[in-house]
Amino acid sequence: MDVLSRYPFLKREGARALRQMGLSGVEDLRDKYPWEFREGARVVLSILRGERPDIGGPGRFLVYLSSKMFLSALCDPVITGRYVNFERDALQRHMEADVERWLSGEDGVGELVERVLRDLNLNAIVEYPAIRIPIAQYTRHTSYFRNARYRLYMRPVADGMVILDMRHRTDREVFAHLVREAYASRLRAEIECIPSLAELYGDAVTEAKRLKEELLKSFSTAEFEKGVAEAFPPCVKAIIARIKSGENVEHHGRFFLATFLNHVGYSEEDILSIFSSAPDFEEGKARYQVEHITGKISGKVYSVPKCATLRAQGLCVKESYGDPLCEKDWLTHPLKYYRVVARRLTGRKT
Ligand code: SF4
Repeated sequence: MDVLSRYPFLKREGARALRQMGLSGVEDLRDKYPWEFREGARVVLSILRGERPDIGGPGRFLVYLSSKMFLSALCDPVITGRYVNFERDALQRHMEADVERWLSGEDGVGELVERVLRDLNLNAIVEYPAIRIPIAQYTRHTSYFRNARYRLYMRPVADGMVILDMRHRTDREVFAHLVREAYASRLRAEIECIPSLAELYGDAVTEAKRLKEELLKSFSTAEFEKGVAEAFPPCVKAIIARIKSGENVEHHGRFFLATFLNHVGYSEEDILSIFSSAPDFEEGKARYQVEHITGKISGKVYSVPKCATLRAQGLCVKESYGDPLCEKDWLTHPLKYYRVVARRLTGRKT
């Protein structure tokens, strides 16, 4: 299979392919390759519907580029998160297969694995039977994982590099998770917010927004019976959707969600049950953090961050949600949003 079909993000191969096809921009892609252009949006919509589209078929590279452009047009962290998770799983499958081929001695595969890792900003050295990764890069991409096997003290280290012996299943699993996270963070960073692209994708933009709303509603049923889930502000709904979609949400995001849910009446058990959908969930650690935030073990109830803080942390999503309430000058805190909307919905103070 063509290397770009498996790793469509490779810089050198991607630039060469674009040169050969004479493509210079998204309008060019739409005009010269209309099927691939439309397919890029269709793949994203299909993922939003919970389907598992086949993304390895013909035109994979151009479809991938179009999907990224579509996500830039939508400028929505929940939709981007869903797509990134899907791509991340595909990358893991290809990488695992290539590592198997490399371990069995197939020529040239070690160089390919090393090149893929470099394009994921991992300056790894691939030398049978080990893959060595600089300590700082290793810790950056494994910090989400709480299991002890990811900790640095569990790994051999030499010359500033963490050594993963790929003959061992545990090391292969650690490697697979690290590569997934490296790819997810590169992809998320690459998908810029360019709302002006929306007009190129027409009705697909409206459909994506509708599917996202459906997705959010599906997360607001039984387990959100405390408080008034429909009144949660967009920033809270976005984090819940990201966790439910299997994304490893950053520490700030989890802290915010735990403080918010605690303030609207959720118990530690309720909060833990929501966090338990995260792929890196580890009950002991999560319980300690949640009980610290709620004051059970720290004696201090942490307050919910203000909108300004959430904006600085990249957690405010008012640009992509277009919620008129978030545009009001007085809306300076997510709990203000919650109280106003909950009162409108229930007719009583919360
Ligand atoms: S303006 Fe405030 S309440 Fe609205 S999304 Fe941003 S942080 Fe949340």
